[in-house]
Amino acid sequence: MNIKKLLIINFIVLVSFNCYANYAPNQIAANVCCKLFGNKDASDQAKQLINQARDSFGISQTENLPVKYITHKPAWLQQFLAFTWLGTWINKNSWENLSDQEQIFAAYHETAHHYLNHPLKQIYFTLGTFIASIALGRVCIPSVKSKLLACGLQTLLSATLLGLIVPWYAKLCEKEADIKAAQKLCTLGKKDIVKHQIAQLSSELDQGNNCSSLFFPSINDQVTYLQEIIQ
Ligand SMILES: [Zn+2]
Repeated sequence: MNIKKLLIINFIVLVSFNCYANYAPNQIAANVCCKLFGNKDASDQAKQLINQARDSFGISQTENLPVKYITHKPAWLQQFLAFTWLGTWINKNSWENLSDQEQIFAAYHETAHHYLNHPLKQIYFTLGTFIASIALGRVCIPSVKSKLLACGLQTLLSATLLGLIVPWYAKLCEKEADIKAAQKLCTLGKKDIVKHQIAQLSSELDQGNNCSSLFFPSINDQVTYLQEIIQ
């Protein structure tokens, strides 16, 4: 089987699993995720915060949505403060370094990803981009006679499209989750949590740290869109 077919089958399995687990959270899906990311229970306090946020967003079947620590070692996984994919996984050390208010904001941010169905949408987006890059390659590359060169060009095309679109969409999801979390906190009368988050980000800006990455909005952008919500 060639690698293209294998990748497409992998994507389809991933999308099917995601659909199945997203629309009917269940113990089997939860166990698969725990095997992938970590199976150590988060503290009762972290669980309580996340479950409170889930209640506020009206998310049901929370007993099948794990709240665990990230215990698996890949470096990229350890970089997250927390992430949500059919449950929420938390980086223990980073989480414990947050103030109470920052933890509340982070809990609402992660739960907003769940509420907005971001994990599933991101997989669809990646799959769609990959298929589009193959289709584009079919149109543009056939004139290339050498098989090796055609394969190289297709890989380059797919990698470029994925490298541009996936981070762009990830950034959009981060912004959307921040905004949804802030709006929810404001409607619950917890505007002070959003204000604290802005103050925290602003103090980082004052220290000359406007870090942004491929996958996250810059601190300056975060301050700007959060400020619009509390006005
Ligand atoms: Zn996020």
